[in-house]
Amino acid sequence: DLESDITVDTYRETSLLSQAVKKSLTKLKAVDQSRQEFVSNVSHELKTPITSIRVLADSLMGMEEVPVELYREFMADISDEIDRENQIIEDLLTLVKMDKSAESQMNIAQVNINRQLEMILKRLRPIAKRGNVELILESMREVTADVDEVKMSLAITNLVENAIKYNVDSGWVRVTLDADHKYFYIKVADSGIGIPEDALDHIFDRFFRVDKARSREVGGTGLGLAITKNVVQMHRGVIDVESVPGEGTTFAMRIPLTYIVRQEARP
Ligand code: ADP
Repeated sequence: DLESDITVDTYRETSLLSQAVKKSLTKLKAVDQSRQEFVSNVSHELKTPITSIRVLADSLMGMEEVPVELYREFMADISDEIDRENQIIEDLLTLVKMDKSAESQMNIAQVNINRQLEMILKRLRPIAKRGNVELILESMREVTADVDEVKMSLAITNLVENAIKYNVDSGWVRVTLDADHKYFYIKVADSGIGIPEDALDHIFDRFFRVDKARSREVGGTGLGLAITKNVVQMHRGVIDVESVPGEGTTFAMRIPLTYIVRQEARP
């Protein structure tokens, strides 16, 4: 009868509602946990250079007479640690800005991607030379696309910089550009040290580094790939990585030629 039908419906709705609430709570908890993890990672990363500076300064102050060479050496180390701290803060600010501004602050314009890649490689050439790494650019066609030039530059620069940093002596980095009627494709391939298979799933996570010592040595913060992935996603693109340890790594991204404005979700 009618009354029992209503009860059943109400019951069903209540149960659906409670399921939805449970789901949201689980999601919130996950968000909260990842935020906590992030904050604890950030604190740790920021503390590391400070700790080194403390140790260096304390040792200098603890010495009766400091030979000038030793003094210079310690001061140079302190200066390096300060640079490092600055780099971490800069990368963090970049990430946070992207998180907040997301859609609204995309500064989209028609950009000649060929020219953009040429400029990026030109800027990185001195660093590649230092590592004796050859930089190669292969453009299959002329590509003009709707991108945020500054953000896209940052994303590509991070990839090429990594390909240089995690390379071997006399290695190479090959950047290729291609397009079809819908997307453009950028690949950054290198002849470097590669990434172990179990690390591939985490490579885009904030602060993840395969080898902390090596990353530190080459001035890494563990935020570069997180920034790159953010930028690619803001352009509605995708990015993937393939790697063979000891042989090399290839990052491949696919970005729509036309910027698609996301439909607002209905309230
Ligand atoms: P980092 O500042 O440490 O370079 P990234 O987020 O840019 O941080 O990269 C994260 C980690 O991924 C690096 O520490 C390194 O272990 C690994 N990695 C990134 N790119 C490459 C590459 N081209 N070849 C080998 N390992 C790489």
